[in-house]
Amino acid sequence: MIDDRPYAAQLDARADALATICVHAGDRPDPTTHALDVPIVLSSAFGFASADEAAGAFQGRNDAHIYGRWGNPTVEALEAKLTALEGTEQACATASGMAAISGAVLAFCSQGDHVVAPRSMYAESARLLRERLPRFGIETTFVDATEAGAYEAALRPTTRLLYLETPANPNLAVGDVAAIVRLARSRGIATLADNTFATPFAQTPHALGVDVIVHSMTKAIGGHGDAIGGCVCGSREHVARVRDLVVKGLGGVISPMTAFLVARGLRTFALRARQQCASAAVLAERLAAHPHVSAVHHPSLPGHPGHALARRQMHAYGALLSFELRAGGSGGGRAIEAGRRVLEGVRTITHAVSLGDVRSLLTHPASTTHSTMPPEARAAANISDGLLRLSVGIESTEDLWRDLQRALEA
Ligand SMILES: *Cc1c(COP(=O)(O)O)cnc(C)c1O
Repeated sequence: MIDDRPYAAQLDARADALATICVHAGDRPDPTTHALDVPIVLSSAFGFASADEAAGAFQGRNDAHIYGRWGNPTVEALEAKLTALEGTEQACATASGMAAISGAVLAFCSQGDHVVAPRSMYAESARLLRERLPRFGIETTFVDATEAGAYEAALRPTTRLLYLETPANPNLAVGDVAAIVRLARSRGIATLADNTFATPFAQTPHALGVDVIVHSMTKAIGGHGDAIGGCVCGSREHVARVRDLVVKGLGGVISPMTAFLVARGLRTFALRARQQCASAAVLAERLAAHPHVSAVHHPSLPGHPGHALARRQMHAYGALLSFELRAGGSGGGRAIEAGRRVLEGVRTITHAVSLGDVRSLLTHPASTTHSTMPPEARAAANISDGLLRLSVGIESTEDLWRDLQRALEA
């Protein structure tokens, strides 16, 4: 879906396709106050106009609100935006990305069921599958998602879910979404994609056939680093199933206050993502030519192993990149020391976890986000001690480059 036209023109076209949706989807001007924005409705319970309406609400015959954990107008306005962005029938907002992920897996899997997931994935999601769910009889096989046939080889008669996360955290490995969807459909297995890293700007897994899409809205969807939230997008039936379990049953409900903040952030999502993707491609190219950098991982680079696949299945290459310092590799102490010097040398760029923020954020996965991963698992996922991950923000591209150059030369 990315072709030979100038990349900037393709980013403009993608932003154009989403900009109006971001601003207007879910708009419901308030009939009494004429407020343009859906108000922040903080009421935990809602009154009924009649006994009939109350009975109807409980039987699903009308959509009157009953109680905040079951539905809230501010949250529903946000969900309408998410539905439009991912192109699914419905969306359900949740308390966090992990509430969306744990709930979606539990909605599809029961005791005795099996999941296939990528070896390189968000560390807390990996812990959920590796350490927590086996206690409830749900087992996971981790595979190299870049290897053709890896998911198929891991299938068991009890496999209920194929889990995708592409591009992967933090090495930007790209998995073949359409091939995994074909496999799942031929066996009647559900597919779930964590699209947080790519964002709906750069990738629409539903258009590639994925059943359920989850996001940490804490990242690029909210975009301002001021709200924790998640969502699950998919068919009416799938989203209803997840909503019933995650939000109603397990209580992973998003606060209306947070839903408002995320919806406000989402209005500028297309513009932010365009700038972030454009800067990321420029910085990736310049870093790759820098003498102190031994490797850069970003799908925009022709030498990246996932480049061709990314062109086929993505709208843009995304705003995250990672790079390794020349002193790096798996050389332990020296690699870690070089990484620390860069982290401490940046000024415009912020040394902090998270991603997708308006601020550029730099992290050192081996000592922070992926430190709970066993060293063997980290090595198997290609996360070297000297690897730095950069989430590109909306600052001036040239300011970011000057900052990186100075930190690298320190
Ligand atoms: C941050 C993140 C999560 C978890 O989301 P929270 O909102 O922090 O619970 C899950 N997956 C990915 C890829 C993430 O970046």
